[in-house]
Amino acid sequence: MPTPSPYAARSKAAALTNSKKAAMIHFSILGIPVRIEPWFWITMAFIGGGLHASNSMDIILVLVFVFAGFISIMVHELGHALAIRKYGLPTSITLQAFGGFASFPAGRLDRKQSFVVTAAGPLVQLALAVLLIVLMRNISIPEGSLFLPFIRNLIWVSIVWAVLNCLPVYPMDGGQMLAAILGPKKQRYVHLISVIVAVAIGIAGYFLLGTILLSIFMALFAWQNWQAFQAASR
Ligand SMILES: [Zn+2]
Repeated sequence: MPTPSPYAARSKAAALTNSKKAAMIHFSILGIPVRIEPWFWITMAFIGGGLHASNSMDIILVLVFVFAGFISIMVHELGHALAIRKYGLPTSITLQAFGGFASFPAGRLDRKQSFVVTAAGPLVQLALAVLLIVLMRNISIPEGSLFLPFIRNLIWVSIVWAVLNCLPVYPMDGGQMLAAILGPKKQRYVHLISVIVAVAIGIAGYFLLGTILLSIFMALFAWQNWQAFQAASR
């Protein structure tokens, strides 16, 4: 997911009112501060089919999805954050609407470090999915147990989230990795490739998968990257 400048994140946090702060969850994991905005839970419930829940079992399954999504995305962001800390830089994790990011001081990572930090998120998340698939083949979970949909959701979210994020569309992880590979002099090509891939995925997502949410995100990314490409071409 996008990794904006921590300075932007900090000024945004300072502008929040006390009532909004009260609705947020703060804790530390492995010494890394974590902040969860209320919109993270709301958008996860939306992705998990919260709008179509019609009985108490549906609602329980949406909550199971939200919890599995939370674990999976936390693991993804911890991958980024632990890599940032490995390079001796301070970091914190924020979970927000439709995802999250791990912050780091701007301009302190070189291209190789930036690539490693970005790749670490989806890699750790995919490793979690593989581990769970192996585990599921070797243990038996009683039918009807909520543990079964939880583990299935955890595997599914981890694979989809990691693969989607590796698409070369800036500012997703794949776009950030492409930017690290091409270097600062070829940034406009990062944006051009992002536009082409985002348009292709947006159209394919709508007609092949029947999902509108993915297409909306891709249209937004395509527009942002087109603007950035034109600005960089001047
Ligand atoms: Zn990421």
